[in-house]
Amino acid sequence: MNKETLDPIAISEQQFDKANSYMHHLQRGLVDSLKQPRHINIVNFPIELDDGTVKTFRCYRVLHNRVFGPGKGGVRYHPDVTEEEVVSLAKLMTWKCALVNIPFGGAKGAVICNPKELSTNELRRITRRFTSDFFNVIGPHTDILAPDMYTNEQTMAWIYDTYNVLNPGKNNRPVVTGKPIELGGSYGRNEATGQGCLYLTERFFSTGLIPEINEIAGTRVAIQGFGNVGSVAAEAFCRQGAKIIALSDSSGCIYSETGLNLDAVTAFKQEHGCLVGMPGTLTLTNEELIELDCDVLIPAAISNQIHAGNANNVKARLIVEAANNPTTPAADAILQEKGIYVMPDIMANAGGVTVSYYEWVQNQANEQWDIEVVNNKLKKKMHHCFDTVFKRWQAFVVGEEKILDKESGEQMACPDFRTVALVTAIERVANATLVRGIWP
Ligand code: NAD
Repeated sequence: MNKETLDPIAISEQQFDKANSYMHHLQRGLVDSLKQPRHINIVNFPIELDDGTVKTFRCYRVLHNRVFGPGKGGVRYHPDVTEEEVVSLAKLMTWKCALVNIPFGGAKGAVICNPKELSTNELRRITRRFTSDFFNVIGPHTDILAPDMYTNEQTMAWIYDTYNVLNPGKNNRPVVTGKPIELGGSYGRNEATGQGCLYLTERFFSTGLIPEINEIAGTRVAIQGFGNVGSVAAEAFCRQGAKIIALSDSSGCIYSETGLNLDAVTAFKQEHGCLVGMPGTLTLTNEELIELDCDVLIPAAISNQIHAGNANNVKARLIVEAANNPTTPAADAILQEKGIYVMPDIMANAGGVTVSYYEWVQNQANEQWDIEVVNNKLKKKMHHCFDTVFKRWQAFVVGEEKILDKESGEQMACPDFRTVALVTAIERVANATLVRGIWP
């Protein structure tokens, strides 16, 4: 394909180093420490499968940073997940929580498994074993879990139940967010990531950065991934008057120039388990979806989907990163050159962790807020997050904030939104570290 690295650690280092080149004031030693995870826990355990055979599963829980509060991050079940990916996602969580100003650090977990080949009972046994083997690592005030790819509120219910059995007599609800409503889940958590993408996008369009588009109504949207985040984003954008012209899952992409009927798509997916084959639609590949002529492209599936090999062919005006790490650094540079704006993952999908935080707060007080309360708070948070990054970005554009290149001494190029968001978040974590005082 091309020579760029797709190694998740290398990519997160490149993004960090780019941001760091705009932060001359950060101490070298502090930078080195912020780049490293605080701890990486790996467990291999055996599970008896339904047919009586035994299989060993490898699991990870990585804590990157706890300067602002307990670690926070999802648990992913995927056959291709690697330690490097989990570490890079844990780091991203640290910056995301700092950017939206919630008192959590960054963490992430994963089980290497293929949920499509496992029964519900097998998934329950894996989840209980994962929770018990990491019992000393996780906790409501140390490291809080949440859903991610191929985990859902059922998975979170098993985590809560297992933790509660092992730690009886306490309010253990805040150990995990994304729980079912009846177990202390928050209204709006399931929808929060997709809904947050909408709030951010409407704020972006209101800036006039794309003169022909100042609202979501009438935009043509393509979404990669039709899981939790992708399906909610599709509905949210559709409700605001956007036309969803393409949707995909791991089976491929369906396309309709006149717009997809989401109720029909959902019913088809439920019946057939995949999108491809939906009557009245054209079948495309996931690669073709990325290059579609549209206004908004929302990657909501896996990482590295927009890379050096296809970034030049992207036609969207705006990319909203619902997924984590969907765009490589080489692609970022190409997109910036082409004038295509990217709302980076650290901002775009922060709605999920924001409402996770609201769930955690509700659980401490044994309260359950109305959906309107949750959504109003989320909207405010996403708008504020966008405004903060946009203001800083504008300061670079108009030259109010001038940073000279360390080597050449020349004025640095205007950073993209990802870099400005990272600068903002890393500065907050670095400042908090120094204010707390480096221990001992
Ligand atoms: P999910 O498991 O519910 O859905 C994943 C979707 O991606 C499915 O439609 C699946 O078919 C599709 N997919 C899988 N492999 C694919 C491939 N090779 N090509 C195209 N599509 C593929 O997961 P989710 O919770 O919707 O998460 C999606 C992304 O959003 C992930 O990157 C995740 O880290 C990120 N994210 C999720 C949340 C959340 O609240 N769930 C929060 C922040 C970020």
